[in-house]
Amino acid sequence: MERNERGVTPQGEDFSAWYNELVVKAQLVDRGPAKGTMVIRPYGYRLWELIQADLDRRIKDTGHENAYFPLLIPESYLRREADHVEGFAPELAVVTHAGGKELEEPLIVRPTSETIIGEMMAKWISSHRDLPLLLNQWANVVRWELRPRMFLRTTEFLWQEGHTAHTDETDAMRETMLALDIYTQVARDIAAIPVLPGEKTPGERFAGAARTFTIEGMMRDGKALQAGTSHYMGTNFAKAFDIRYTSGAGRLELCHTTSWGMSTRMIGGVIMTHGDDKGLVLPPRLAPHQVVIIPIGRGDQGEQTRTAAHELAARLKSATVRCHVDDRAQLSPGFRFNDWELRGVPIRLELGPRDLQSGTAVMAKRLGDEPKQNIPLSSAPTLIPNILEDFQTFLLTRATRFRDTHTTPTDTWPHFTEAVSTGWALALHCGKPTCENDIKTTTAATPRCIPLEAPPETGRCIHCDEPSAYGKRVIFGRAY
Ligand code: AMP
Repeated sequence: MERNERGVTPQGEDFSAWYNELVVKAQLVDRGPAKGTMVIRPYGYRLWELIQADLDRRIKDTGHENAYFPLLIPESYLRREADHVEGFAPELAVVTHAGGKELEEPLIVRPTSETIIGEMMAKWISSHRDLPLLLNQWANVVRWELRPRMFLRTTEFLWQEGHTAHTDETDAMRETMLALDIYTQVARDIAAIPVLPGEKTPGERFAGAARTFTIEGMMRDGKALQAGTSHYMGTNFAKAFDIRYTSGAGRLELCHTTSWGMSTRMIGGVIMTHGDDKGLVLPPRLAPHQVVIIPIGRGDQGEQTRTAAHELAARLKSATVRCHVDDRAQLSPGFRFNDWELRGVPIRLELGPRDLQSGTAVMAKRLGDEPKQNIPLSSAPTLIPNILEDFQTFLLTRATRFRDTHTTPTDTWPHFTEAVSTGWALALHCGKPTCENDIKTTTAATPRCIPLEAPPETGRCIHCDEPSAYGKRVIFGRAY
């Protein structure tokens, strides 16, 4: 297999190999000892912290409060909601022994926390005045995944899970869509991923949900990534956990609940939406280092450029630019350039003795065919924030163009199979799970979502020719 000088397989040759090699080479993760687990290294964890900070702010700004619930859940709790336990059973990790003894009741390592939070909601809610109850938890969860991939599908992952209770369907649906909107904004504004919000078909719903909504991003190999989900539970969990309130009229009513989650999978989405054969390409708003300064030179001259690099970094930091000086003198400039290219830093500033004399630095952007540019050291702190913003916008525009040119409305089966081999197909579908399964078996494509914003349309199913459901076209694609 051919590799480029950095030792990463080119995307066009084997996208999966490119991804698997890059996450390790860019020092985002390492393999954990137990199958499917990952160690998130500081560079990868910083990315998560930046996503987390933005998402947490939006969650709090919309009236939710953070809380923390136990990792271990009594097995009987999961059994109370039949669909929920059936859906999650194959993925559960169960603790049967502790303290040297067999437990009377096995404990589940949480795969998600509807059950334990539902139990507490029942205790905390009594009147309509207690509603809505708007909770969020930042936590790790465990799902025994059979085909693990770093960030995308690990057996243990980090996420936030929102859990809310409401008086009625209208209020709970408003919340479900609010969470979906927050996810859409985080993906677009921070990660520069132009996700498509929509509803899952019944066959793709969360176990125990009445309705599931998703945001779907298109990766550079044309596959879809479900980057966040928001569920309206109806009264399913309220019935199972007895979450009731007394209405203004004095009647005992069931609550309507929601849950929604976004995980470390988002990091995988960023890598596969923007990365290229040279390595990661990080959107500035998420980049741990937005700018790397590389002082060049030996001896006294090296000392001078290093001092100047640290001074420039201090001024950039005052202008709220996340900045790093790579003064590893034992490594050649070329090696350091490649290293930060591989790790996706948006802007590199090279500072050699001659640059220093002329009061400039050489700026190289991570993307774009433009030649390197000299920028004055004096005005760098005012220029660079704008250049970073332009870079952020450029990434979103480029990804949107890619998604749009790889999304094809199709009305014939041959056209459909061709479209899902390189991207997404927009097609009418009958809505029957058996037909969905047939499509999956023959093409590996699944219905990703029924887009929220799509013109009304009816006709015949792309596969079985039965009358179409949903009143609009569905997005089909292969997915991670
Ligand atoms: P769910 O609770 O199944 O709706 O999952 C919420 C979100 O968590 C999904 O939309 C995914 O983005 C993410 N997710 C689910 N399973 C995994 C996993 N094994 N590893 C990483 N992220 C996951």
